[in-house]
Amino acid sequence: MTTRLVLVGAGHAHLHLLQHADTLRRAGYRITLVAPSRFWYSGMAARLLSGAPRTECSLDIASLSVRHAVEHVTAPFAALEVDSRHVLLADGNNLAFDVLSLNVGSDVMPPTAGGATVAAWGAARYWHVKPIERLDALRQHVHDAAQRHQSLHMVVVGGGPSGVEMAANLAGLSRRLGVPNDVRLVTRHARLLPAAPEAAARWASRQLARLGVEWRGNLALDAGAAWLDALPAAADDIVLATGLRPAYCVADLPLDLDDNGIRIRTTLQSESHDEIFAVGDCASLIEHALPKRGVEGVRQGPVLLDNLVALQRGKPLRDYRPPGTALSIVDLHDTGLALYGTHWWGGRGALRLKRYIDTRFLKRYR
Ligand SMILES: Cc1cc2nc3c(=O)[nH]c(=O)nc-3n(C[C@H](O)[C@H](O)[C@H](O)COP(=O)(O)OP(=O)(O)OC[C@H]3O[C@@H](n4cnc5c(N)ncnc54)[C@H](O)[C@@H]3O)c2cc1C
Repeated sequence: MTTRLVLVGAGHAHLHLLQHADTLRRAGYRITLVAPSRFWYSGMAARLLSGAPRTECSLDIASLSVRHAVEHVTAPFAALEVDSRHVLLADGNNLAFDVLSLNVGSDVMPPTAGGATVAAWGAARYWHVKPIERLDALRQHVHDAAQRHQSLHMVVVGGGPSGVEMAANLAGLSRRLGVPNDVRLVTRHARLLPAAPEAAARWASRQLARLGVEWRGNLALDAGAAWLDALPAAADDIVLATGLRPAYCVADLPLDLDDNGIRIRTTLQSESHDEIFAVGDCASLIEHALPKRGVEGVRQGPVLLDNLVALQRGKPLRDYRPPGTALSIVDLHDTGLALYGTHWWGGRGALRLKRYIDTRFLKRYR
């Protein structure tokens, strides 16, 4: 008898399952994937913003599904009925499942504790760094303004890796287009990249200054936005890079949840339901709070595959052991900052290494 396996979201771990669809079929699964037709790779977010072709920064999930003979449904996932084991889709249809896995990623955290935007932001346009495909629209917007010879006042909110990447690459894009856009960054912390060594943060700060980006720390938006009034001109565009939270579509699921997402055990199974798995940014490992980074999903993929097969065969499931330290490289447009625990390295070589790692990752699925 076949077991209906529904995969929701084509995030990093599910890409691995797609590639190993034959193994799942041999174990007795019939697979349906619910996901948009493209996967936008966050490792290439900065490249997308600074002008790389869209196809270089994304994967065609529709063709990948055809190649691996997986049924693909593009209507977004909307809700879940656990008792009757149905996934409800935004187009009103539903799918029955025996086993379910969720890999729907994350959205941007609201910039203020109450979730409200700031009145002083007035008529500025808002851009969120996730979903990643929004950055394609932002790039086009900067391009269109340049064609009208209009220079923009842009403020990036957030001094973590994604805020720093956005500011550097908006400045780099403006320079390439020959427009004197004013790019600023503000952060609630005293310094950039609070999780990185201080010397690395100082190095990143010098790179931003070289690209013409001014940044200010200790500016918590919750306390108001007086800094905006002090700017020489009102912001046209505000880019929110205020951290990641589990995707909004998991917020009301009838599963055990916490602020980090769907609570999962080390076997990647939901705390409350053995037949429901969750991975990547939408999942919250109970024993160990994980940072929201793509590498977790990449490393969870093989464990998820093994555990789905083991579940079907009645064998024991294995545990996911998160990596203690992982390499991350911040794309600063024409240079890069590699971070590994307390070690760091800044320079063009770091950026070349990032390009190599990211291109190799996407190549696996092309
Ligand atoms: C600007 C930026 C740069 C980053 N750079 C890096 C980096 O270099 N390295 C790194 O490790 N991390 C990076 N991150 C963090 C990274 O984005 C996430 O940690 C990572 O994408 C999480 O992977 P995931 O597989 O959980 O989800 P995702 O990669 O977000 O994939 C989830 C998928 O689910 C789909 N989905 C969402 N909602 C639904 C729905 N309702 N129905 C169906 N499908 C849905 C989405 O379309 C998406 O394809 C970056 C983040 C940002 C914002």
